[in-house]
Amino acid sequence: MNPITLFRSLLRQDSPTILKSYIFEALAQRGIQYTDPRIQNCVAKLDAFSDVDSIDEGLFVACVQADVETLGHLLLGDLVIPDFGHFKAVLTEIFEDLKENTAGNVATYIPQLAHVNPEYWGLSVCTVDGQQFAIGDSETPYCVQSTCKPVNYSLVLETLGVETVHRYIGREPSGRGFNELTLNHEGRPHNPMINSGAIMACSLICPELPLEERLGVVLDTWQKLTGGYRPGFSLEVYLSEKRTADRNFALGYFMREKKAFPEGIDLHQVLDFYFQCCAIEMTCRTQAVVAGSLANGGVCPITGERVFSRSTAKDCLSLMYSCGMYDFSGEFAFTVGLPAKSSVSGALMVVVPGVCGITVWSPRLDRYGNSERGLDFCNRLVKAFGFHMYDRLLKPNGAVG
Ligand code: GLU
Repeated sequence: MNPITLFRSLLRQDSPTILKSYIFEALAQRGIQYTDPRIQNCVAKLDAFSDVDSIDEGLFVACVQADVETLGHLLLGDLVIPDFGHFKAVLTEIFEDLKENTAGNVATYIPQLAHVNPEYWGLSVCTVDGQQFAIGDSETPYCVQSTCKPVNYSLVLETLGVETVHRYIGREPSGRGFNELTLNHEGRPHNPMINSGAIMACSLICPELPLEERLGVVLDTWQKLTGGYRPGFSLEVYLSEKRTADRNFALGYFMREKKAFPEGIDLHQVLDFYFQCCAIEMTCRTQAVVAGSLANGGVCPITGERVFSRSTAKDCLSLMYSCGMYDFSGEFAFTVGLPAKSSVSGALMVVVPGVCGITVWSPRLDRYGNSERGLDFCNRLVKAFGFHMYDRLLKPNGAVG
């Protein structure tokens, strides 16, 4: 990319200079945030000339030269959502409409969830090209709860490989409640998206390390997936989860009785670790980047860092597709047709592979434990954009065979 071409693309009304704000306005129109790590080098150089209003060709070249390929792509290249303004407008309309939906109830099994304001409503998107959009309560932290399951599952796939992992965990929907006291015919958890499987995944994450370091490994992974945001942690949620976890303890003992765990694990430590992972805090904005990293085959869209291999991302999305929405997973796969993971805090990550990741957060849940507005949103999303996995078959020229 030639920096002069880039400079000329930003010129307005035959002026020989541009304003710094033109660059950021042009990027923002395409969904690229001022804080995007990919442009920080260039932002720092432009800020060094903050007393200069207008920038001529020479100054522009000096500031962007080192990042001209990236900047050129972001400003003039083909991005996965070409008309980001239209995309945002449609999402905003859906977001506004869904404020009306006040069905469902917040989770009540711990006070920290029971007391959350049920009105919270956030929606954030991150495309595979790092185009971002956030609206509503997108900066308010919540605990990730079950949306930690795909991250932990991906982490063990990365470290142990798919064959080893699936000696301990199945990959079949259970057809039962997410915390039901049930295992498959081999006495193993049905899949990693329900509690038994997620507890098993926790037993496979760096068991040789002290507990605090295991949590560090998980937090580091989240941080890479978000492109740099260090997740928070709710001590209250963790303590409360731990105090009220009879069912998860029961699942743990049941699996230990069936000799389902790897040799030598400490069950109480494993359960503790699982409660800690559920108490990690994210915001919609940052978790959308996590979903975007999965949509992007394991590479964080705003840093370009590979966090998971392509095959890990593929395996994780496959199980999110079949098992990610509690006892509604089959229905969701049929009607929405996208991989997703929901949680009792009302957070829901939904992935449009190769296009974008989305996180919505609204604490009122339906009887399965899925966010009411979240579900409504997914239905509206696929209708508006034809994102259902098999929608292409509806177009005459999209059919195969
Ligand atoms: N901490 C919750 C539990 O283990 C997670 C539930 C969820 O979000 O599905 O029961």
